[in-house]
Amino acid sequence: MKCSKDGEFTKGELSPYGNIQLSPSAGVLNYGQAIYEGTKAYRKENGKLLLFRPDQNAIRMKLGAERMLMPCPSVDQFVDAVKQTALANKRWVPPSGKGSLYIRPLLIGSGPILGLGPAPEYTFIIYASPVGNYFKEGIAALNLYVEEEYVRAAPGGAGGVKSITNYAPVLKALSKAKSLGFSDVLYLDSVKKKYLEEASSCNVFVVKGRTISTPATNGTILEGITRKSVMEIASDHGYKVVEKAVPVDELMDADEVFCTGTAVVVAPVGTITYQDKRVEYKTGDESVCQKLRSVLVGIQTGMTEDNKGWVTHIN
Ligand code: PMP
Repeated sequence: MKCSKDGEFTKGELSPYGNIQLSPSAGVLNYGQAIYEGTKAYRKENGKLLLFRPDQNAIRMKLGAERMLMPCPSVDQFVDAVKQTALANKRWVPPSGKGSLYIRPLLIGSGPILGLGPAPEYTFIIYASPVGNYFKEGIAALNLYVEEEYVRAAPGGAGGVKSITNYAPVLKALSKAKSLGFSDVLYLDSVKKKYLEEASSCNVFVVKGRTISTPATNGTILEGITRKSVMEIASDHGYKVVEKAVPVDELMDADEVFCTGTAVVVAPVGTITYQDKRVEYKTGDESVCQKLRSVLVGIQTGMTEDNKGWVTHIN
């Protein structure tokens, strides 16, 4: 789908996966004008396909586009294009329980621009790829490393937006953590280096008794769709869910920590290393994390009834 200065996107078309052509002076290549989304199509046991809250991705892209001074497809155009892409790739959606079709909507400043400014033309592309389950056998807990040298986002920046410009800067921190044997990085706020933000591609929750706290979205963390869904499921199940500035010290005596995101869904954290301390957390079948994960996975894969209206059946 293409859009020029009038801000209206024309109807798109399906084409086989392949390279795209861009001018060397395309806004996206020079000034990083691009935002993306990530969602999944699942196959139910009866073979039918479903999508999880694609409207939320559309809304998040719209908000992100405003921040990045880009025109954006309407919610209906976005959702319809995601449905068309999933249907066209139906044969690639793994069988029920074996994975999903990862769908990546991408909005780029495709027009040429030499001096710093918004691109004169935009392109909305969606591509898709089958992916296996994040956890291949059983659920392996994540081991996180609290990063104090690098930050992911700063107040007033684009941390709250799914902008491509947020991801290249985390590669160094992620590779440092991986080389030390950790699964991911847990970022702190850039001002006081005292409050939790999020991991490289997922949000974080801290459990103490029946209270579940998660960093408030104040423009520096991405407002995850899984995060929002898990918060609602947790309150439905009688947990007290608190969005606040979560001090890193709360990790020291938490019962559990878990992460949420389209890729990991809901993933337990087994250990967190902060300065010279390594703290272990409860994981396993009896954990709060596992309970919330089962409910969410049930809805996403069509195994349990969706009384929230989160699932869109597409065939
Ligand atoms: N934070 C970041 C930085 C992410 O890239 C993602 C993945 N989209 C998330 C959190 C989780 O968001 P969601 O639940 O919408 O996938």
